[in-house]
Amino acid sequence: MKSDIHVCAAWESEHDRPVYTLGDACPECGAPAVNSAPAPFNPEDPYGKYRRAIKRRNRD
Ligand SMILES: [Zn+2]
Repeated sequence: MKSDIHVCAAWESEHDRPVYTLGDACPECGAPAVNSAPAPFNPEDPYGKYRRAIKRRNRD
């Protein structure tokens, strides 16, 4: 079975720790929730998480 666990794309700025959800949006702040499986966030690329979130949205 495929894992559908997502993590808040903006957790670094909105929360003290990653917020996980099974949905497509963070239940706490409403930001897009992205697949938690890929590589960890790159601190040198603070906007990468937003680009990924936008990409995901455009695909839907
Ligand atoms: Zn959030």
